[in-house]
Amino acid sequence: MNVAAETYVKLVLAMGEHDRDYVDAYYGPAAWRSAAQSEKKPLDRIRAEAVALIEWLSAAEDHSGTAATSPRRTAAAPYDVADAILEMRRQFLARQTEALVARIDVVGGKRMSFDEESKALYDAVAPHHSAEHFQELLHDLEGELPGPASLTARLEAFRGKVIIPRETLDAVFNKAIDACRSRTLQHMDLPADETFIVEYVTNKSWSGYNWYQGHYHSLIQVNTDLPIYIDRAIDLACHEGYPGHHVYNSLLEKNLVHDRGWIELTVYPLFSPQSLIAEGSANYGIEVTFPGRERIEWEKEHLFPLAGLDSSNAERYYRILKLTDRLSYAGNEAARRYLDGEIDAAAAAGWLERYALMSPARAKQRVAFIDQYRSYVVNYNVGKDLVRTYVESRAAGDDGKRWRVFEELLASPKLPAALGAPLPS
Ligand SMILES: [Zn+2]
Repeated sequence: MNVAAETYVKLVLAMGEHDRDYVDAYYGPAAWRSAAQSEKKPLDRIRAEAVALIEWLSAAEDHSGTAATSPRRTAAAPYDVADAILEMRRQFLARQTEALVARIDVVGGKRMSFDEESKALYDAVAPHHSAEHFQELLHDLEGELPGPASLTARLEAFRGKVIIPRETLDAVFNKAIDACRSRTLQHMDLPADETFIVEYVTNKSWSGYNWYQGHYHSLIQVNTDLPIYIDRAIDLACHEGYPGHHVYNSLLEKNLVHDRGWIELTVYPLFSPQSLIAEGSANYGIEVTFPGRERIEWEKEHLFPLAGLDSSNAERYYRILKLTDRLSYAGNEAARRYLDGEIDAAAAAGWLERYALMSPARAKQRVAFIDQYRSYVVNYNVGKDLVRTYVESRAAGDDGKRWRVFEELLASPKLPAALGAPLPS
């Protein structure tokens, strides 16, 4: 299996030479990356070798006997944990490699619908919703934001009261990061030397990004192109940092690369099922870190004053956010219609403004994100709902247990299929 893992890493690196967003992180042997750069293997050869690897991994299930002791096959009977984790490893490699083949096809120009692509790359299909569905959700917001202007404009005007001033941005983020980190450390053991740095950047299609460097280090970039609202401090601190991407990558490195020698986890192909777990857990981790009313109470006491904002707006702002959160699926719908060729970029931006209540500038940024990352958009909300369902069904409302189940998920090579049935649409 180690040979298969090495082959997988090298194929992912080779693909990275054709697709600049593909290799999100790599901290394996530097020589492998240099070799990929100098060889620049053609796409059709990468594809053929990936298909051969999938066949080998499939034969390994049939012949090695690991399948006989896999949790799937022996759900009712005790099985050897070591065998089960090896079977998980084989499945991880096979499924990630299948997604590599699909991404080669996308880059090569194969026509795939939005749903076919998200299924092939992330094991996820976003539910379909009509404009009427979102219209009904918008109706619930009318009462919170009365006025004659469009709902998007009214929301934007209200949000003007909760913009973090640029001069307090760093202090506010650091405060949020400290809170997320200390809460996470109360429940999880992290590698002693884990750390990250935060940079403020401009001219990006995303609002924040974690570039995992290996050795428990991350570079987190925050895009300041558009106003940053107060809720984004905790969102980004949890999502990119604790217990989000930084913790997920650190736990994978510690438990699988360091302790088990699984070289395949030293590379992270962005367009793969792993991203559904990564984005889903990073988003759901916010609720794990601040369950119930803890977040709003903490922000009112610490974050609003630090940012120089009036905390009497907090309750109303979070009631509004709870309602707008349900509009996240309007973002998937815009991406689906746009990438399937039903609407153009301007109409996609219009849809985002109208049904996801984005300002024109934010809608434009999101269309640029969709152009760059395509069906990746499903990972954030479909992934969050999947991870939430998985964790909550095991934690049964117990805050401590929720952390344990969540940590176990972050430290494992589990892929979406292992988290249970797809969500009803
Ligand atoms: Zn993310």
